[in-house]
Amino acid sequence: MRLQIFIALAFAWASTAAAADYAGPLFDAHLHYNEEAWDGRSGPHPVPDVLARMKRNGVRAIVANSRPNDGTKSLAQAPETRAAGVTVVPFVRLYRNRADYDNWFRDDTIYDMVQAELARGTAAGPFRGIGEFHLYDSANANGPVARKLMALAEEKDLVVLAHVDDTAIDLLMAHPPAKGQKSRLIWAHTGIGGAPAARVDQLFARYPLLMGELSYRPGLTCEGGKLCPEWRALLLKYPTRFLIGSDTWVNQRWQYYDELMKGYRTWLGGLPPEAARRIAWDNGAALFGLKAPQ
Ligand SMILES: [Zn+2]
Repeated sequence: MRLQIFIALAFAWASTAAAADYAGPLFDAHLHYNEEAWDGRSGPHPVPDVLARMKRNGVRAIVANSRPNDGTKSLAQAPETRAAGVTVVPFVRLYRNRADYDNWFRDDTIYDMVQAELARGTAAGPFRGIGEFHLYDSANANGPVARKLMALAEEKDLVVLAHVDDTAIDLLMAHPPAKGQKSRLIWAHTGIGGAPAARVDQLFARYPLLMGELSYRPGLTCEGGKLCPEWRALLLKYPTRFLIGSDTWVNQRWQYYDELMKGYRTWLGGLPPEAARRIAWDNGAALFGLKAPQ
């Protein structure tokens, strides 16, 4: 009898006990350091402020892409960045200003700007990718500059960070010579419009180097901030294909940076440790050839 009670209690404990949060390093694969964060000079979130936020959350590497690119460059060159143990992976943002959001895919001056930035590089080394770019109408994935940039990315082995819907993934992937088989594309939010998990699965199967970044992803987490069953299954089917990101597109995201990273650590803690580590750090590190942090 006593044994039966013990077993019943043990089962009850196992089903209610919260798994420990993931405690390893994080790779923030979708970070913006936009002008309003540093206000052209120093505030409200100067370089030491954002680095402190990364450091206290165990963020050891970032994909930095900023409007304009000066934000990324200041993170790349600040001595404090190295002191904080943060590796900057710089991307060329396509936007000089807000007007560029809706016009970049047909504006040749954007293509010229990208070429010039790639040639220039940053204090943290060459640019490793292009983006983030947005397509609010997937048909614009066929715009002349969108075509040229996808071809350029394949040619120069650059990673593309794209905020687009599932239809635009197919359209973009059709442009480069290898038809998406060699394109290293990070799908920002893995479809912010909520493409079904089965559709994400189909695209992952079709394009072997397609990665899914998970900020703002609808349907990802359920009660208690844990993964919903459908998404847990998808992450475990493709543990090498997902990334986490903060998407600090407005200053409010900087104010909640701690909560965002805590949220990731909560649901990562519900995965087998190997899968959690991959999604938290290893996948981003492998994409850009980074060493494990000390
Ligand atoms: Zn973004």
